[in-house]
Amino acid sequence: MNKTSRIKEQSTRVWKYILILAAVLILFSDVFVFVENGIAASKKVDEQIRIGVLAKRGHEICLKKWGPTAEYLTDKIAGRQFVIVPIDYEEIYSFVEHGKVDFILANSSFYVELERWYGVNRIATLKNLRLNGVYTEFAGVIFWMADRVDLRQLTDLKDKTFMAVEETSFGGWRMAWRELKEAGFDPHRDLKALQFGGTHDAVVYAVKDGTVDAGTVRTDTLERMRAEGKIDLKDFYIIPYRGKNNLKLPFLYSTRSYPEWPMAKVRHTSDTLAEEVAIALLEMEADSVAAKAGKNAGWTIPLNYQSVHNCLKELKIGPYKDLGKITLYDTIRNYWPWLLGIFVMVLIFFIFFVHMSDLKAKLKQSVVLGEERERARVFLQSIIDAIPESLLVINRDHTIAMANHKANYAMEENPDTSLLKCYYFLHKTEVPCNESEYSCPLTTLIETMQPVTVEHTSVDCEGQKHIFEITAAPISDESGGFNQFVEIFSDVTMHKKAEEELLSAKEKAEQINEAKSEFLMNVSHDIRTPMNVINGFNDLLLKTPLNEEQERFCKMIKRKGKDLICLIEDIIDISSVEKGKVRMYQYPFEIQKVVRDIGESVGMLIGNKEISFKCNVSEKVPKKLIGDSMRLKQILENLCGNAVKYTEKGKIDLTVSIDDEISTEQLYAVCFEVEDTGIGISEKNIEDIFEPYTRFYDIGKNEHKDGVGMGLHIVETLVNHMGGKIIVKSEVGKGSKFSFKLKMKKPGELDAEANKQPLDKPDEEVSLAGMNILIAEDDDATRVLMKLSLKDFECNIKFANDGEEVIEEMKKNKYDIVLMDIRMPSMDGFETTKIIRADVDKDVPVLALTAHVMGFVEDDCKDAGMNGFISKPIDIDKLKRAIKKYV
Ligand code: ADP
Repeated sequence: MNKTSRIKEQSTRVWKYILILAAVLILFSDVFVFVENGIAASKKVDEQIRIGVLAKRGHEICLKKWGPTAEYLTDKIAGRQFVIVPIDYEEIYSFVEHGKVDFILANSSFYVELERWYGVNRIATLKNLRLNGVYTEFAGVIFWMADRVDLRQLTDLKDKTFMAVEETSFGGWRMAWRELKEAGFDPHRDLKALQFGGTHDAVVYAVKDGTVDAGTVRTDTLERMRAEGKIDLKDFYIIPYRGKNNLKLPFLYSTRSYPEWPMAKVRHTSDTLAEEVAIALLEMEADSVAAKAGKNAGWTIPLNYQSVHNCLKELKIGPYKDLGKITLYDTIRNYWPWLLGIFVMVLIFFIFFVHMSDLKAKLKQSVVLGEERERARVFLQSIIDAIPESLLVINRDHTIAMANHKANYAMEENPDTSLLKCYYFLHKTEVPCNESEYSCPLTTLIETMQPVTVEHTSVDCEGQKHIFEITAAPISDESGGFNQFVEIFSDVTMHKKAEEELLSAKEKAEQINEAKSEFLMNVSHDIRTPMNVINGFNDLLLKTPLNEEQERFCKMIKRKGKDLICLIEDIIDISSVEKGKVRMYQYPFEIQKVVRDIGESVGMLIGNKEISFKCNVSEKVPKKLIGDSMRLKQILENLCGNAVKYTEKGKIDLTVSIDDEISTEQLYAVCFEVEDTGIGISEKNIEDIFEPYTRFYDIGKNEHKDGVGMGLHIVETLVNHMGGKIIVKSEVGKGSKFSFKLKMKKPGELDAEANKQPLDKPDEEVSLAGMNILIAEDDDATRVLMKLSLKDFECNIKFANDGEEVIEEMKKNKYDIVLMDIRMPSMDGFETTKIIRADVDKDVPVLALTAHVMGFVEDDCKDAGMNGFISKPIDIDKLKRAIKKYV
């Protein structure tokens, strides 16, 4: 066998296997289908059809009565198995609604309810078998005992007791109820009691027994009971039916007739099945097992149940319980176009009403607002009328919006007044009178939005000049801007005049005061020069040998001379203070030294008085402070001097301490206190104690008259100039305490002020030997005194009588120093110095000889080109030091 034939044979064999496999698969599939069909056929059972039956006498009786009908139908209709489902009254609706049954057999009234609510549909009506007759209709009987003579018609039942079978029983209650109602009798209202007996027989017995006055049952009940020998019909009175009835029942009846129970199909049941069931029922023989069991003669075609509907409608029960009642839904459904129309109209009316109310409210509000505005306007007018100046409220267009009484009067009653002109000038383009050029305050006001005050001079028609002070202020509106502004025109003419007069009076007074001060100073100076000479000569005299009496006289002269000098210096001080020419120096000084000096002078003042004087400087007070020690000494000497003056015995304390609370590291608050146990000062006098020329003789003794009452005034002025404030506390008879605080610095190493030294530097040995000194002094006595005073110092002294002589002398000879009296005839010391500086010698030291060291003297000295000054009476040591300093 070759290779090709072998391949062919193999492929033929493969195809053979494939065909065999396909044939086997086909065979298996057929077998599988056959088996499956067989299983399905074996599994097939009859479809169960459920007939729901109203079980009015219980489930068992129901099944017994209707079970054979189900079996009959099962037999008749292939593939269906019918079963009876007994249903209680209350369940019937839910069974039908939820399709738990396929057919329903219930009394006629239930049927119409189910028909209306759930769409059940009758397929046959029962042919009832009663007392061997076949009936498809039945009626009701209303009855009572025949011996009840009080009951003859239905309306006689009023306030009687009545019994029916069941509330839902159609033949056993509802049929009779309809007749009662149509007779105008409402059983629920008119009966004394309505009871339900449960069964027809029970109702009959209840009436018979007299338990109730009357009752109702369905037709044939009484006849049946009579046949059963339970009652005698003659004992009962049956209300005859008086309406038209086409049915002639062989029974007694009181109501119209209604069709018997229908068999109905439930909505889900197919029409085919319903048809088959209907046919089967109609074919049911009267003598069939089913008919017999059901006590009927089979079934007939479905009757008309309209009469039942009418009955329920009449009674307004079941599906007709809301009949006649107008539900919201019905109303909306039936009358919606009307309702919509009404709604729209109501809406329109409502909107109109709201709008009207709103308008009314607004109107009312505007009336109220108007009233309020008027009230506010009157109120405002009253306020502005009370303003004594002319007030105008001006609109932006410069017209007047409002004016107060004064402005109105000025403008209306006297149209020529300067106010109107002023207003015209400010706000109108046409100016009635010629006025000087003037910028309207409104312009400034608009630019700044701030009140402005300007002054304007206006001349009235009588030629009188009026000065107005006009204050304009914006009246802000809600937006923050302004449309109006208020202007107040104050006629300040008189005021200005008074001001001018006052000013000139003040100037005059100041001039007078100045003149007075000047006069006082000049007089003092003039007095002091001879006084200095007197004192000087007295001092020289004291150095000569004197007898005891002479010495006493000289000392007396010395003491009183000193007092006089003090008085004069006080007067000069006051004059300087009044002229505002007090200058404070700032140089380092030792507080201890100041206190020591005061101690010395106070010691001398105390003399023989029994007074202990104590100086107490706190350790906290720095050794050196910066300030004007001379002025401080002057203040403290004055206070301590007063303390001595007004204290006979006791003690005087001078205390210097630091107020820690207000002191800082740089600035010390140094407290000075002078306390005495003297006569004290009354409360009344304390008020004026610092006033100039104040002396209280009434509290002092006569010997205290040596002051002029200016000491404390000077003290207060000086303390104020030093930045402090003096306080006095005192009690009459107990003593006084004067205190003040000064803020002072401690000198630093590089403190510029530290270099500024007063003339009274610590003592050092100074020699004037060989020095050429030119002294300008016009007073002969002073010249003699100075010559005598300087004679021991081996210096060359040359005197000049006036300025001219000084200049001449200086041109001739060279001098080491010039001592220049300030007050000299024809040319004073300042003028002379200026000439010296300009024409003769610009370097030679020139020292002023002045009677009193005051700031203004120093300033003038400097201005004139002098190097310094020495106060008179000349203290030789001071003079020596000064000369040494500048030479
Ligand atoms: P005076 O030069 O008269 O002392 P002052 O101005 O110093 O002037 O004092 C005014 C008056 O105040 C004195 O006249 C005196 O009545 C009263 N006074 C001043 N200091 C004291 C004091 N320590 N005790 C009682 N009275 C004083």
